[in-house]
Amino acid sequence: MDFDPASLPVQAGHFIGGRFVEDFGQQIAVSRPSDGRLQGYVRDAGADGVDAAVSAARAAYRTGGWGACPPRERGRIMRRFAELIEARTEELALLEATTSTRIITETRQYDSIAAADIIRYCAEFADKIDGEVTPTAGPALNVVLNEPYGVVAAIIPWNFPVINAVQKLGPILAAGNAVVLKPSELSPFSTLWLASLANEAGFPAGTINVVNGYGATTGAALVAHPGIRKVSFVGSGATGAIIMAQAARAGTKPVTLELGGKSPFVVFQDADETGRIAQTLAASFLYNSGQVCVAGSRLVVARSRKDELLDRLNLILDGLKPGPTWDASTTLGPVISPQHADRIEDLVRKTCSEGAILRRGGRRFDIGNGGTFFEPTVIDQVTPEMSGFGEEFFGPVLCVQTVDDEAEAMSLADHPVFGLAGSIFTRDIGRAMSAARSLEAGVVWINTHGRGTDLGAPAGGYKGSGFGKDWGRHAIVEYLQQKSVWIS
Ligand code: NAD
Repeated sequence: MDFDPASLPVQAGHFIGGRFVEDFGQQIAVSRPSDGRLQGYVRDAGADGVDAAVSAARAAYRTGGWGACPPRERGRIMRRFAELIEARTEELALLEATTSTRIITETRQYDSIAAADIIRYCAEFADKIDGEVTPTAGPALNVVLNEPYGVVAAIIPWNFPVINAVQKLGPILAAGNAVVLKPSELSPFSTLWLASLANEAGFPAGTINVVNGYGATTGAALVAHPGIRKVSFVGSGATGAIIMAQAARAGTKPVTLELGGKSPFVVFQDADETGRIAQTLAASFLYNSGQVCVAGSRLVVARSRKDELLDRLNLILDGLKPGPTWDASTTLGPVISPQHADRIEDLVRKTCSEGAILRRGGRRFDIGNGGTFFEPTVIDQVTPEMSGFGEEFFGPVLCVQTVDDEAEAMSLADHPVFGLAGSIFTRDIGRAMSAARSLEAGVVWINTHGRGTDLGAPAGGYKGSGFGKDWGRHAIVEYLQQKSVWIS
């Protein structure tokens, strides 16, 4: 064991108007996914807590706070925020590994470092948001101002708690908005930890607010609150649809939706060396135990390459070491909750009862400490009519579809509902580019699968995977609205 998770302090309550408050609503007990033990409590903010947070954010935005902060100063405060995170990356890595499904080797190498990098990247845009002068006839002058919305609500899921939080905070704040952020009720602690640095960084009180609670109570109240001008959401398609309807009812508020995926991993007959592809495939559907929106959860493979690829994959899966997130030797972490594991198991069973072949795995298991783990699972002969093709597993499950030519591959690769991402493996650059263009998805990888550590590339869905972008300069634009000013 790398460290003792029980020894780690966590914040409780909400962060509103620059201070932690522990009132509002019923208590929510939050357990560690790795061993099911209690880590701490937060509270369900509900309508009253949301109202307090939105009022604090409105005040910060309207009356001389963040809204009046000169652009360069905004950037400076955000850079200071990034420095404070950077000075405490080990603390953040331990916290994230204890209270989520993220394993310690990855939170040390990636999450804690990227958290600071993302804030710093976005800070650089704070004083580079220009307007425009449009060509007009006669003496009139038309000027276009890029303005913040005011108070933005951000609602995020549990799979990468701190990364999800900073990928919202960065662009929302850089564009000049105040924010009310609601993390998942299953993973609130690293978001509260981020908020605890806000005052020292120099954000005017009320610029960053965090409310905790359940989706149906606190989340819904946030979307409906009249002081919220825009809603930015990451989560499942089903919740995204509810939020879009709520936002429409609450005054046709704009929404940005980053939703689920069923991303294809397409291996053509002329693809590169099988061993390398097998490694990439394993990482694509097993990273964070498959709880990744862009997981390569559907292998679409040329018949001539299938058997060797699946044999190689089997060897990799045999070598995985399940364990708690805080153990540095763990290579397969837990799934978020027993309920989530049951849902994955039911979907595997249903898909197999519809005719698919279970090649390995298919069940949840316990490593003897009360945690919830799921076996790496491969299901063969999955067809588009089956449940496992239509729905996200959001766990370590790979569906396999075998194809005989390029046309069949691309027709299966395009999912009827989801369009978040996909990858193409071929040595032929012409085939790669034509496949990349034809795939109806927001992100396409060629001969690789998964984000690198670069921050500039936009990410976001097509079709039922949502709209609007996270990451890169495209994310800043999501939190700006254009005002046309005419001068006679
Ligand atoms: P979820 O949709 O159940 O919950 C996400 C957030 O929405 C949580 O904070 C939850 O409390 C809140 N919520 C739930 N109901 C709500 C309501 N009625 N009103 C307002 N808020 C509500 O998703 P999850 O289980 O936390 O996360 C997994 C899902 O997230 C998967 O579908 C995954 O693909 C998706 N995801 C997408 C991306 C992306 O960038 N596209 C990234 C990560 C996760």
